Amino acid sequence: MAASRALGTFRLPPLPTIREIIKLFKLQAAKQLSQNFLLDLRLTDKIVRKAGNLTDAYVYEVGPGPGGITRSILNAGVAELLVVEKDSRFLPGLQMLSDAAPGKLRIVHGDVLTFKVERAFPESLKRQWEDDPPNVHIIGNLPFNVSTPLIIKWLENVSQRDGPFAYGRTQMTLTFQKEVAEVDVGVVHFTPLTQPRIQQPFPLVEKVVQNVFQFRRKYCHRGLGMLFPEAQRLERTGRLLQLADVDPTFRPCQLSVSHFKSLCDVYRRMCDEDPHLFAYNFREELRNHKRAGQDKETGQDKEAS
Ligand code: SAM
Repeated sequence: MAASRALGTFRLPPLPTIREIIKLFKLQAAKQLSQNFLLDLRLTDKIVRKAGNLTDAYVYEVGPGPGGITRSILNAGVAELLVVEKDSRFLPGLQMLSDAAPGKLRIVHGDVLTFKVERAFPESLKRQWEDDPPNVHIIGNLPFNVSTPLIIKWLENVSQRDGPFAYGRTQMTLTFQKEVAEVDVGVVHFTPLTQPRIQQPFPLVEKVVQNVFQFRRKYCHRGLGMLFPEAQRLERTGRLLQLADVDPTFRPCQLSVSHFKSLCDVYRRMCDEDPHLFAYNFREELRNHKRAGQDKETGQDKEAS
């Protein structure tokens, strides 16, 4: 028993440190791309442990860079690790890791924003949505400018059960990095729920959340007001908040998921009553106002000359 476990346990052979890899392949972090690397393998092990048991798992790592997290994933007994990295400077270092872990590490030089992971792993891994999560995991440490659009895309994928969620309720373990500090990271582990807490279409939920958070330090009524045309803004924002039973002086970060649920449900009813409402965009209205003002000024100039 002990012997078979020992045979099945994979550990990477001794390798140069991440710091040495960075030096060897001249991988200075490109600050304009917000590249910050995790060098401490105790920290990357800790991040990977947050993903849970990875024995025989199929893992998709986004943005492996010099490979710190990659090493910790390989040492966690995975069946296969697929990494997608945009910056070609990292490929030789990753290839070195692949050579040290034969048959386990697949390297793709590509963009995580367009990569189709739903075609990357065996079909047999697929689970029903209501089943336990599949043995497929996403792990990554990306800069904010990439992780924000990526997470929004993945949340939409969750709602449609496609993309990485074509396998079922694929779990994600992602770090959110402060732009300047090298190791100051927060780790968030997500498992999609079988039933969404807010039963409304993703674009509607996204619109409500985006509007609230565009004035993140102001009272929530400020951002919510932007859901409505200027002429009826005051009255309709008041109605939304009253029917949703939300205190207008809450700040966006004080709103709970159930507040958002009520806001989305009431906004949905308002959209059903007024078919033009969902398409309303306050920026477009502002632009039109500006243009009308400019046209008026030009007209007056012409009259004066
Ligand atoms: N995971 C490594 C670590 O923790 O040390 C590197 C982290 S660094 C913050 C982000 C990495 O993501 C870089 O290697 C960068 O080149 C890569 N990256 C950024 N945008 C990407 C994209 N759109 N597609 C794939 N990789 C990307």
